[in-house]
Amino acid sequence: MGTRKKVQAFVRVKPTDDFAHEMIKYGEDNKSIDIHLKKDTRRGAVNNQQTDWSFKLDGVLHDASQDLVYETVAKDAVSQALDGYNGTIMCYGQTGAGKTYTMTGATENYKHRGILPRALQQVFRMIEERPTHAITVRVSYLEIYNENLFDLLSTLPYVGPSVTPMTIVENPQGVFIKGLSVHLTSQEEDAFSLLFEGETNRIIASHTMNKNSSRSHCIFTIYMEAHSRTLSDEKYITSKINLVDLAGSERLSKTGSEGRVLKEATYINKSLSFLEQAIIALGDQNRDHIPFRQSKLTHALKDSLGGNCNMVLVTNIYGEAAQLDETLSSLRFASRMKLVTTEPAINEKYDAERMVKNLEKELALLKQELAIHDSLSNRTLVNYDPMDEIQIAEINSQVRRYLEGTLDEIDIINLRQIQEVFNQFRVVLSQQEQEVESALRRKYTLIDKNDFAAISAVQKAGLMDVEGHLVGEPDGQSFGLGVAPFSVKPGKKSKTKKTTKDQFSSSARKEGASSPVSGKDFDMTSISKTQLIPSSKEGDLKDMLVRERETSSIEPLPSDSPKEESRALSTVI
Ligand code: ADP
Ligand code: MG
Repeated sequence: MGTRKKVQAFVRVKPTDDFAHEMIKYGEDNKSIDIHLKKDTRRGAVNNQQTDWSFKLDGVLHDASQDLVYETVAKDAVSQALDGYNGTIMCYGQTGAGKTYTMTGATENYKHRGILPRALQQVFRMIEERPTHAITVRVSYLEIYNENLFDLLSTLPYVGPSVTPMTIVENPQGVFIKGLSVHLTSQEEDAFSLLFEGETNRIIASHTMNKNSSRSHCIFTIYMEAHSRTLSDEKYITSKINLVDLAGSERLSKTGSEGRVLKEATYINKSLSFLEQAIIALGDQNRDHIPFRQSKLTHALKDSLGGNCNMVLVTNIYGEAAQLDETLSSLRFASRMKLVTTEPAINEKYDAERMVKNLEKELALLKQELAIHDSLSNRTLVNYDPMDEIQIAEINSQVRRYLEGTLDEIDIINLRQIQEVFNQFRVVLSQQEQEVESALRRKYTLIDKNDFAAISAVQKAGLMDVEGHLVGEPDGQSFGLGVAPFSVKPGKKSKTKKTTKDQFSSSARKEGASSPVSGKDFDMTSISKTQLIPSSKEGDLKDMLVRERETSSIEPLPSDSPKEESRALSTVI
């Protein structure tokens, strides 16, 4: 994680012969603007109205060349994008104050080119300086007009809104616009021609759709992906730079606007005020919810406002007295933006394919190493590969023979084999357990020791003496009353199962029993959780016991239908 960083807020003043020197003053360090409003310049101003404001900024650009603006505003953010940090550079301000001039610049004059072409130039220059990395560059150009998304680089001829409307999609990697074309540009010239195409489309669109281009937001994005050329490095970095030319921020007075203009003004006012709200929320450390989804603009920029990116705002203002109201409002926006902190972080990702290759290499090396160790310690050639079915079956048979006592020990060969031996122990035991369980089920109904009613019925029937011992034939042939090691009560199964396994294996091992599945071999005296009672066909154990008592001959009644068996069980449990 990087260190927290404030959003950088610059102000660029549009050159004018009529600069309001008396009202607009810059601080000595050029990092603040003081505004002094003469009372009489404002109609209706009363004496107690505020007339002085002071705004702290990161720099004031007055009469600054395009070159200086780029150096001051964008150079660092673009350079850091190549190291994996996302960056957003945004121009804000009223129409005509110089946002597009700052961002795109004058296309007819190379010297007056703006941030966009200069950023592309810097990116490609830096790529040339980094032969150690394979860096790909892609670009997209999105326009948001009246809450509709337009692709300014659509490969189809521009016909207005795309047939399949674009949507803003969020995934763990970030936010992207589904349907927006993203173009791979392998050299500067490609990027420039795409930029030119986008600008042309922007103008065409403004004519065909009869819209004012200063009423829309435009986002030019440069996406980068840098892979190290050294084969071993499986990490790669991604980043994007958003260059945003916002719609004019001036608030059109509603009385003066109607129809289309009113609609545009409403959308712009809304989206800019949502942008402001999101930014205020971002600047407030106590806010955990940031309302990004309120507008297309904030949603599309969700992972580019605040968060982990370098963020720069250029507020374009007029220097004339007549525009002071709007200038004040723009400066307020800039100072709010300055409160926002971000935490720039590198977007590091892993190249899965490369990772697999590296792991395979590592594995081969370790196998070689192992072979050397084996031969040095005079071990016969040991195979460390995963086992096939035949080998596993052989281990299973060894385990069975070991449990039966016909095999004294199982030779240890390697770790994989030991693990498989344990595995097969589990397999064999659970098979035996199942066999016993079903054998017993066929013979007995189980009584839970806590079921006092059933126990008392058993006692009444004379099947259990007062000390709780069950009376029956010891061989378990006709009435093997003992205790089932496993409770059939749901939820207790796993715990008791373990007991079964332990007892089972120890008794089986001790006695060297040939088949532990037989009811005879089963040590019923040592287990004490559940009592065994013959199953009843009728299902009601107590009735059955009474009847059995009357006939004084108790024979186990095996249930031949599983349905009845379960009924019998459920009445007892
Ligand atoms: P916005 O995009 O904010 O509506 P523009 O960038 O289109 O404003 O600027 C309006 C006009 O002012 C354009 O003709 C532009 O060339 C000119 N202009 C703006 N800023 C400057 C500047 N710093 N130097 C020279 N001309 C500028
Ligand atoms: Mg503009």
